[in-house]
Amino acid sequence: MDMKEMKLLSEWSYEPAKIHRGYARETLYVGLGNKDGNYKFEKRPVSDDMIEKFTGGRGFGLKLLWDAVTEKTKWDDPENELVIAGGPFCGITQYPGTGKSYTVFLSPATKQTYNSNAGGYFGPFLKFSGFDALEIQGKADRPVVVFIDGDNYKVQIFESTLEDNNAYYISEELHDYFAKDEQDKRTISVISTGMAAKTSYIVGLNFSFYDVRRKAVRLKQAGRGGGGTVLSDKNVVAIVVKRTKFTGAENDPVDIEAIMKAGVSLHKRIHDHDNEQCKMRSVGTAHLTEIMDDYELLPVNNYKFGSHKDINNISSDEYAKLFSQGMADGCWYGCSLACAKAVDHFPLQTGPWKGKEVVVDGPEYETAAGLGSNVGVFDPYWTIEANFYADHYGFDTISLGTTIAWVCECYELGLINKEHTHGLELTFGNKKDLMELIHRMAAGSDDFVVATGKGIEAAREYYAEHYGADLEVMKKIGMVCQGLEASEYRCQESIAQWGGYFLTLKGPQHDEAWLIFMDMVNKQLPTYEDKAEALYFFPNFRLWFSLHGLCKLPWNDIEPVDNSIKYKGIEAARVPEHLNNYLTIYTAITGRPLDREGMILQSERVYNFERIFNLRMGKGTSKFHEAPDRGLGPVWEDEWMARPDYFDARLKEFGEEIEGKSVKEKIALLQKHRRSQWAQLKAAVYKRRGWNKNGIPTMKTVKRLGIDYPEVVALLEKHLKPEDEFEDA
Ligand code: SF4
Repeated sequence: MDMKEMKLLSEWSYEPAKIHRGYARETLYVGLGNKDGNYKFEKRPVSDDMIEKFTGGRGFGLKLLWDAVTEKTKWDDPENELVIAGGPFCGITQYPGTGKSYTVFLSPATKQTYNSNAGGYFGPFLKFSGFDALEIQGKADRPVVVFIDGDNYKVQIFESTLEDNNAYYISEELHDYFAKDEQDKRTISVISTGMAAKTSYIVGLNFSFYDVRRKAVRLKQAGRGGGGTVLSDKNVVAIVVKRTKFTGAENDPVDIEAIMKAGVSLHKRIHDHDNEQCKMRSVGTAHLTEIMDDYELLPVNNYKFGSHKDINNISSDEYAKLFSQGMADGCWYGCSLACAKAVDHFPLQTGPWKGKEVVVDGPEYETAAGLGSNVGVFDPYWTIEANFYADHYGFDTISLGTTIAWVCECYELGLINKEHTHGLELTFGNKKDLMELIHRMAAGSDDFVVATGKGIEAAREYYAEHYGADLEVMKKIGMVCQGLEASEYRCQESIAQWGGYFLTLKGPQHDEAWLIFMDMVNKQLPTYEDKAEALYFFPNFRLWFSLHGLCKLPWNDIEPVDNSIKYKGIEAARVPEHLNNYLTIYTAITGRPLDREGMILQSERVYNFERIFNLRMGKGTSKFHEAPDRGLGPVWEDEWMARPDYFDARLKEFGEEIEGKSVKEKIALLQKHRRSQWAQLKAAVYKRRGWNKNGIPTMKTVKRLGIDYPEVVALLEKHLKPEDEFEDA
């Protein structure tokens, strides 16, 4: 490697906190000044109230960000922060899935708070260096690398000498730069983004770890919401942490034996049953592709269709042939579920690294579908190449896939043409031009790609204003809500999943609730009250993982074999045995008792605080919870005609007489009925969550949760209106 020595701009030494029962009880603040070279470093105490009300991880991130910004702060103001935090579980090695970091920031894409998580070693190493969270605020006056030296208890700011802005280059160079030798590379983790962050909002953060078996740097993404754009705007090329020595008991748990016992039983279950359940160890999440196709849930051609005749080309069997096998593919120590699959020695066919052989992380399901079926491509080699460059350039593969899928439909509808795209023929499945589009979007090389790189909501305004494209049509077909592009599940036929996508805190991302099987396939949520209950419980339960530094996959991507015999309905979906493991481990780490109610209470506090935070930023009300037509049902005749009997039957269920009606009329009728269902769902969910008709948490709710801080109360007093109250609330 040929990286030039970096000039030290500023340095600060600290006395490390001793981690006790899961917490260091100190956070690290790094101020970059306001393009004036004034750097500031502080250790900040973590109060009992912060632990009690915000727990850790995403909760800490939201509280620290709340204190750092005002209602006027924009994503590109120096006051905006990038906060990174694990949680009390973060870093334990005896139970799978404990290496996650949660990032929180004001998002360029959604213009409200966003949080996104990644594996890799950063979160645990930050904690072992003595910090429960890292805040980065301000803007550097030149490109910098922030180095947290957890071995020597120093934080240093270097002037970057990196010559390429892209993630694999940056990460490989910095692992080399800060390591003494090959073995030492595993003691380092790098956060970076890529060149797309200069002009695009759909750009994430790459978190690295060094894979000793492959002798390669691996990247895991906190992809969504534009965290990479925020990092780049701060003129930070990378954040690096180094920590050489640590043990499996670095969190100083109260009862390590209890954690080990829970871990051993889960490791055995994974070993014995993963192959017959989710095949996470052989193909990772890419196994979902054919399952989604079976149930008409795979997004094909901008979510128009749910299955495709060429599914076998992108099935898990095809990916299994390409993934290297027999590796311990965990993204942190101790994860035997090991879903972090990779393709080794992949020869790139295009772009700046054409001809080079690389290790490609993934693709995971979301990428296989988003940069595959959803853009009309059924060629794993194309998807793997697109996956590599998306990561390298910093793109969020989900938003990139969903945006490109929407662009293809706009192009095929004639809303945009070759003149606008500067010569690109952006039809579904046109692999050559779609790959070229990705390269151009990363480079920001013309007005069309720069507008497109801002995501669907901003792009459609631009297309309407500059190309005369029909805004209403673009709104119908764009799978976006609150500024965030939908992840890669087709949700039209599950009313509960409409809520799982469009009644969320941050937009249609599947990490709040994935209710399609429970609702559509297993019919376990027959009433609006049942759906609302699920849309209360699961977002809160899933949020709990983000408070603790946990990966969700070991919770329900492997189950006890008798789970569905012993338990039924929603209770089975909770996977009680694994849920109980988390309660046991929480107590074994912190020494504090926790039951199911306490678990949901921890989450509900943060869930509602985040909602109120978004209200503070000018969003967070009912009008931002809107579902596009494409999310609720067919928009065009070809979608209906792909399953005419099925859709006719749905219409008849509403008591409609369909004889003699055109397909266009039937589509309008179905959309009308589904809009009415959507309104009923929204009301039921708001009520169950303790919100008013405008989607705002009530005073009663915030008092019950103990988050009635004076600033919160003052904000709610401004927004809560008597006419928005539910009659019997
Ligand atoms: S299940 Fe996969 S993503 Fe989760 S911790 Fe394990 S390797 Fe990482």
